[in-house]
Amino acid sequence: MQVRVRYAPSPTGLQHIGSVRTALINYLFARANGGTFVLRLEDTDRTRFSEDYVKNLYDTFEWLGFYWDEGPDVGGPYAPYIQSERFQLYQEHAMRLVEAGAAYYCFCGEERLAGLRAAQEGSDSADLGYDRHCRGLDPREAADRVAAGEKAVVRLKIPLEGSTKFHDLVLGDIEWKNEDVSPDPVLLKSDGFPTYHLANIVDDHLMRITHVMRAQEWIPSAPFHIVMYAAFGWEPPQLVHLPMVLGPDGHKLSKRHGATAVDEFRKKGYLPEALVNYVSHLGCSFEEGRDLFPLADLERLFKIERLNKAPAVFDYQKLEWYNGQYIRMKGDAELRDLVLPFLAQEGLVAEAPSEAQRSFVLSAMPLVKERLKFLSDAPAMMRYLFEAPPLPAAEEFISKKLDKARAAELLAAGAALLSACDLSDLPATEARYRAEAERLGAKFGDLMAPLRVAVTGSRVSPPLFESIALIGADEALARAGKALASLG
Ligand code: GLU
Ligand code: ZN
Repeated sequence: MQVRVRYAPSPTGLQHIGSVRTALINYLFARANGGTFVLRLEDTDRTRFSEDYVKNLYDTFEWLGFYWDEGPDVGGPYAPYIQSERFQLYQEHAMRLVEAGAAYYCFCGEERLAGLRAAQEGSDSADLGYDRHCRGLDPREAADRVAAGEKAVVRLKIPLEGSTKFHDLVLGDIEWKNEDVSPDPVLLKSDGFPTYHLANIVDDHLMRITHVMRAQEWIPSAPFHIVMYAAFGWEPPQLVHLPMVLGPDGHKLSKRHGATAVDEFRKKGYLPEALVNYVSHLGCSFEEGRDLFPLADLERLFKIERLNKAPAVFDYQKLEWYNGQYIRMKGDAELRDLVLPFLAQEGLVAEAPSEAQRSFVLSAMPLVKERLKFLSDAPAMMRYLFEAPPLPAAEEFISKKLDKARAAELLAAGAALLSACDLSDLPATEARYRAEAERLGAKFGDLMAPLRVAVTGSRVSPPLFESIALIGADEALARAGKALASLG
């Protein structure tokens, strides 16, 4: 069988962790089986639709670095891949179901349905939803009323008795008593627009989708779909409902837990590799004892058997860890290119950095690579390399058990030694500072601390001698001089 899977987002919101997980699993399954991954835009909900969300969709996947084989932008044999361009098909198919007696016209207006809802809410009867008022109408009469211009929706007949079963490749056999299936969902609205259910099933069939892999929240819709496949006389695709993604508190992952939109992660300075690697592991286990997988390995290793039934918990700290790992794996030049936009945003380099800026930032990469958790940490971590930091308060210079006079003395000694050192020879420089500390009866750390504060503005910083080598000894001496003056 030629595997064909699809990612079928509705452009009614930003791409988020859950949607990316669905897309990624579909993509990996296609790749693992030499199949085809399709993007289909389910834009039938015109009230919540926005062009911005469509743009966000394309931007997100371009950034994440995995893409579809067929879709609105790349085309394919089953085009168009945008549902709003396929309305004719849904109308034809709704008519087929009406003619077969598997669906029917309903003329109930908003007013009647609202009254029905109010009555149901006020009573303690378990009946909820549409009361099948129009199901018994004579189909000929109903068709005449529609022909005469009366407004109607088309509803699917859910069988009144028995049950609807399906097999989920992860969850196993699932059976719904038909009396528990929501009564007679709308397939076609009165304005001729299809609902999700109709458009989704017609397209999955016409696009020859073999496996439907989607979030578990769609399980209650599955019985409608099974009923429709039977009514059309089509064979349903295999169903795979993916494990839920929960926040650390056990509730469905949402904005309350932190960032969920991919854009937020991107702005924070996450690498797409980290996000892809972590998200692929939500509810799916690849290899015991191994955390880092290039996309190519995930593509090769993915199997449906690796999916869990149990929900996955989204662990922000784990993702942070992944991010650090991927930052450390970058070559200096690549990391430089990733960091530059963040530096530009803070005005440290030009929007289009000069050659000199590019090579300066390149030489700074070995100093920060081990320390960055996010690309967005770079401006604060590196600012002192571009400009003198504001003069720190006097206490900052004074190490534990020392006083101000001693701190000033050590700073003066540390600065004086700078001019005598060859900063291109770091081991020798360090040896000279160690000897100087000994001569002064100070700890090495106590000699270094005030110089570090003067040069970098902080007690914790990237390696000091390397930093001074970058900004130049003269600049470092100027900063030390100002600090000394302030210490009196
Ligand atoms: N358009 C639906 C969504 O927004 C697709 C659900 C499915 O995959 O069947 O998620
Ligand atoms: Zn009705």
